[in-house]
Amino acid sequence: MSNGDNKKMISVEEALQTILVGCRPLGLEKVDILEACGRVIGEDIIAPRDIPSAANSAMDGYAVRSGDTKGVKAGKPLEFKVIETVAAGSIPRKTLKEGQAARIMTGALIPKGADAVVRREDTETRDKTVLIKVAASKGLDIRFAGEDVQKEERVIAAGSVLRPGHIGMLAALGKAFVGVYQKPRVAILSTGDELVDISTDPPPGKIVNSNSYSLAAQVLDCGGIPIMLGIGRDKKEELVEKFQVARRADVILSSGGVSVGDYDFVKDVMGDIGNAMHFWQVAMRPGKPLAFGSIDGVPLFGLPGNPVSAMVSFEQFVRPYLLKMQGHTRIFRQTLTAVNAQDIKKSTGVKNFIRAIVYVKGNVYIAKVTGEQGSGMLKSMVAANAFIVLGENVSFIKKGDDVVVQLLDEIFTRTEFTRFG
Ligand code: AMP
Ligand code: MG
Repeated sequence: MSNGDNKKMISVEEALQTILVGCRPLGLEKVDILEACGRVIGEDIIAPRDIPSAANSAMDGYAVRSGDTKGVKAGKPLEFKVIETVAAGSIPRKTLKEGQAARIMTGALIPKGADAVVRREDTETRDKTVLIKVAASKGLDIRFAGEDVQKEERVIAAGSVLRPGHIGMLAALGKAFVGVYQKPRVAILSTGDELVDISTDPPPGKIVNSNSYSLAAQVLDCGGIPIMLGIGRDKKEELVEKFQVARRADVILSSGGVSVGDYDFVKDVMGDIGNAMHFWQVAMRPGKPLAFGSIDGVPLFGLPGNPVSAMVSFEQFVRPYLLKMQGHTRIFRQTLTAVNAQDIKKSTGVKNFIRAIVYVKGNVYIAKVTGEQGSGMLKSMVAANAFIVLGENVSFIKKGDDVVVQLLDEIFTRTEFTRFG
């Protein structure tokens, strides 16, 4: 690559900034709370009631008046008269008087008069009485009304990502439906005369369209809804037609046809029927060519055709965009510092995203390259759970140096023994 070429390039950061500046969250939709996990809530949740709604027992045991147990000493239990048994879900009928106890189950309402629960292990059950072996302080093993949640309290703030704990809380408050940001519908078009559908054995010169699938999987992975538009031939009219159909989506992705080849028409077509067209040489590897614009206000990403380039470009540009549309504020992958497991040489002037496995050894993270790194080599993505990110100015990085890695996946599922061909 000549320096002249470099001058026309923009950095990954510049491209990202231009792409994200116009990105707005979609509207809200009411969904069943089981559909809401992992999504961003668009409303504050205010508790309509206390949780617990009334004082109840934290243990299986005996409800007592704490003052009555004052005289209990080690080896000298006191005997209480058992006046009723209170099960979880039932209403205690009697009021405790001096020297009385009620047998009580976890979650059962505390009878009137009682102010402590002595757990079963600290008692000895007799016929109609119970021996209490420990002195109970006031409030012992009682869960008080509102101790978890108070009526009118804001328990979940708008903008939170809902996790299983939030779903449980919503259920506890009786909220079966909740307003979350809509999922973007993402139209995916793969361009190229060489492409055949997945069900076709490729004849000579042809290859299976895999990008539609990897991109659709990436869309699903970040919460979007892929709409498969199939294959577009390298003809302007056909691409115009396909992009017109794609306008009904919230975002359009295409792959291929954005480079400098004779049949790379995507950027021309985007310029003809769309507006605000940016065509960039982004200073990155893999994934140099990238077109970004819109058709009738629908954002369009023209991703490169090479299978790894398409995926890496999706990761860097499309994923943050789709997450922002869904109300997320943490839109970038987590990064951490790992120890580089091999010498790596690279050209300066481009940021590299090297497919790697990150694993834990002792108390450090190790980053190991997943073998051959060609931008058409999908196997490098199959093995990877991270990218080693090397900045534009870096030309060489030694084994043992610290490197920044961008995590794509759970690191603890991989080990250094993972094979990658
Ligand atoms: P292009 O950017 O259109 O020149 O494509 C670059 C390379 O990516 C070529 O080798 C294409 O055959 C390959 N390619 C393009 N689109 C796809 C696709 N949908 N699935 C798999 N490979 C593709
Ligand atoms: Mg092509």
